[in-house]
Amino acid sequence: METNTTCPYCGVGCGVVAQHDAGRGDTLAGVTGDKTHPANEGRLCVKGSALAQTLGHEGRLTHPRIDGVTVSWETALSAVASRLGSIRAQHGGGAIAGYLSGQLLTEDYYIANKFFKGFVGTPHVDTNSRLCMASAVAGYKRAFGADAVPCCYEDLETAELVVLTGSNLAWNHPVLYQRLRAAKSRNPLMRIVVIDPRVTDTCELADLFLQIAPGSDIALFNGLLSYMAGKGRLDRDFIEHHTEGFDDALAAAQQEVPDIATAAERCGVDAERLETFYYWFATQLHVVTLYSQGINQSSGGTDRVNAIINAHLAGGSIGLPGAGPFSITGQPNAMGGREVGGLANQLAAHMDYHTPGALDRVTRFWTTPNLVPALPDGPGHKALALVEAIERGEVQALWIMATNPLVSLPDANRVRAAIQKCPLVIVSDCVARNDTLAYADIVLPASGWAEKDGTVTNSERRISRQRGILPPPGEARHDWWIIREVARHMGFGEAFDYQGVHEIFDEHARLSGFENDPQATPDTGYRLFDISGLAGMDRARYDALAPIQWPVNADAPRGTARLFERARFMTPNGRARLIAVASSPAIQQPDGEARLVLNTGRIRDQWHTMTRTARAPRLMHHRSEPFIEVHPEDARHASVQNGQIARLHNTLGEYLGRVRVTTAQRRGELFIPIHWNDQFAHQARASALIAAVCDPLSGQPESKQGRVALSPI
Ligand code: SF4
Repeated sequence: METNTTCPYCGVGCGVVAQHDAGRGDTLAGVTGDKTHPANEGRLCVKGSALAQTLGHEGRLTHPRIDGVTVSWETALSAVASRLGSIRAQHGGGAIAGYLSGQLLTEDYYIANKFFKGFVGTPHVDTNSRLCMASAVAGYKRAFGADAVPCCYEDLETAELVVLTGSNLAWNHPVLYQRLRAAKSRNPLMRIVVIDPRVTDTCELADLFLQIAPGSDIALFNGLLSYMAGKGRLDRDFIEHHTEGFDDALAAAQQEVPDIATAAERCGVDAERLETFYYWFATQLHVVTLYSQGINQSSGGTDRVNAIINAHLAGGSIGLPGAGPFSITGQPNAMGGREVGGLANQLAAHMDYHTPGALDRVTRFWTTPNLVPALPDGPGHKALALVEAIERGEVQALWIMATNPLVSLPDANRVRAAIQKCPLVIVSDCVARNDTLAYADIVLPASGWAEKDGTVTNSERRISRQRGILPPPGEARHDWWIIREVARHMGFGEAFDYQGVHEIFDEHARLSGFENDPQATPDTGYRLFDISGLAGMDRARYDALAPIQWPVNADAPRGTARLFERARFMTPNGRARLIAVASSPAIQQPDGEARLVLNTGRIRDQWHTMTRTARAPRLMHHRSEPFIEVHPEDARHASVQNGQIARLHNTLGEYLGRVRVTTAQRRGELFIPIHWNDQFAHQARASALIAAVCDPLSGQPESKQGRVALSPI
């Protein structure tokens, strides 16, 4: 048999065809790319094509546990409900927190958000997507008045100029890289500019590579805005009729970077090459700037996003085929989490707490004959602040779903101490090799990919079905089922009376359109995220749902490929905002011996903390162990040799990895992968070296600019 479903890894959201034996057994016969899926048109990367190798019951969580002892589901659910209930009664709903994941399906995310915010009454619901794209969200909201990704993947193929900044697309979003490579071979006039502090495989596609200094992105794009103004390359008509804030943004740009020489000096690149980039951008309307964690994971991440958007608005390069700023998410369903309100500063269905009428609207929608939601009236703690609240004892119960924060959150040793101190830790996960499980009072076994049923949304706003094919092992249950049952045990059953996952999706779709009047202006409540056109599907229609891009409503029943084609934005006056931004130094600065700048990121063949990809032998061939990439001069200065194990350290922790001496690194900078952890290697958690500091607007950690010392062991 064959079933069409979706890859569970990166935000490209490729469709896959799973070959299986009528739903029996614990693995699949194979996985191929889905030729009918618009995201990948049959392509897969090495991770996607190895999916079948990552399955199997070995290493799975199969039974609920309390304090290490296997218990029945009834015992586990009663314990979760009674312990959460007593903490809530004693300390209030705000003493309970949920930490969710971009690995959850949208339906899981929706019901979790409703449970915590609506009925437990806590605002403290955040997600590991905070580490991934929170700065992109904050930047979009400032510029467009809504968290709205303007572009679609086709725009990458129809652009005349594609700028890849802060993105190693070849490794992290390989199918988009394949699409871009194919488009460039079809259109030799297409130009590609890669901007990165490191030489990466993505550079192979570049007509121009700018190896900029870390943290100089704002100077680079402010320099571009100054250049466009100086050369008379602004779209004055677009600026005048569709934007606001241009004068202030330009003044800030000109003050920081008045000329190319200053920009080149600030960015550490050759002035002639920089001018070439500026000229290409300024003379081309069909420009896509694609960015990812290299932009987002910074203490100035939101400003960097807006510096990019400023350049597009100033050139009128948005809302057209092959034009616009385009953030690519790391995780498969970071977008779905944004849709349901899975971030601590969101409420639900893309509504923030300050969205006019939102609290009342959501309260009315979630009210049942006998239950009225107890929604908090303001945002909760973002991920790093949540750890601090646990340290202070304000948060007494933490329910972690489908993520491994002991490895992924910065200052990982401090996170471990905080979680150890938390009176109640509940972990729902599908794998037994999750470092966080060691600190869980209650463990709930969840179903995994190929077992779960629901939807995900990829980076181009495309909602796709992920289909359950295999039975979960042992007594593992779907996340939505677990949350529904806990809600029932806490007395909220009437509001969680779902007979299947399609009913949750239906409610999510109805909420998105609830009291959403397209004729209204944003300041009276009109919201762009609207999938009311997908409401009312029965199980059969839900099962057959084909990939579709939101908004999907009466005005756009077949979905929407590209946003802002009419240049109407979601701000109260309908104009996009240019934001005055200026560079600011990284928060992490040299500290004693710790002077080298530490960059962290993914490698091509692994996913997150390797709990799944490490099961596939072929995925271990590319990079089989933790490593440290270092410039030859820095290696010589630290007396470390290529191939030897060396030590990185600072006041927070240490990391051991094999030295890879390479001129791909700039002098004074290092790169290490994020994947390894205590399950797979000794002292190899990259996050143990990163300080818990973040962008004040987005709360996204500064994971690209740690400071460390390098020494032999
Ligand atoms: Fe999966 Fe991303 Fe690879 Fe596509 S590009 S197959 S979504 S990991």
